[in-house]
Amino acid sequence: MVQKLILFDVDKTLVKEMERSSNPWSQAYKSVYGIDCKTTLSQANSHGMTHKQIALETLKSNGLKEDEILEKMDLFIKTLEKIYKKSLENGKITLFPKIPELLQKLSKKKYLLGLITGNTKEIAFTKLKMAGIDKFFSIGGFGDDSANREELIKLALERAKGKCHFQFDEKKVFVIGDTPKDIIPAKKFHLQTIGVATGIYSKSQLKESGADFVIDNLEDIEEVLSIIG
Ligand SMILES: [Mg+2]
Repeated sequence: MVQKLILFDVDKTLVKEMERSSNPWSQAYKSVYGIDCKTTLSQANSHGMTHKQIALETLKSNGLKEDEILEKMDLFIKTLEKIYKKSLENGKITLFPKIPELLQKLSKKKYLLGLITGNTKEIAFTKLKMAGIDKFFSIGGFGDDSANREELIKLALERAKGKCHFQFDEKKVFVIGDTPKDIIPAKKFHLQTIGVATGIYSKSQLKESGADFVIDNLEDIEEVLSIIG
């Protein structure tokens, strides 16, 4: 029986970097809303945001009204996914060191592994498939489920329950991510959180946001296992 649920963020937690042939965002904005987005979100703002949220904020800052943005949001997400996948066709996804080994070890322990990510499900799995680690993940909360990360956690917990037919004890659910946007919503559900300083946030910033544990990276598998148990 599955004893624990481990939920991973994708970008800057599992995936270190990606090479794409073009910027799918600007093409998707142009294709669906007909505008060249002159203002884009700063890195600090976009890290940890869901894809829906990024689109909403970017389009608003380029002068569009929320109503007209939301009206075409489903079409935008579908268009973005299509262009994003195309941009990755000749691209490359690089994982942080030891990620496949860590996932292998956690799966062997019969833990259920899932995702909590701002990426849409399609984009998240495209990246993980390219990196050869999609097989480890069966459930998740994704950027096309909602713009709100708390909602993503709620959905991931429901989906895990549907898969395993029992309610996870909060102490047995771990959320692992590189930004306060991963940590803060997870704490609202009293889940265990591990902040990983492989993104733009330091260990002390992650600790301040409420992370129960903070580590430099996921390379030291024994260290991670000692936290998760
Ligand atoms: Mg991240």
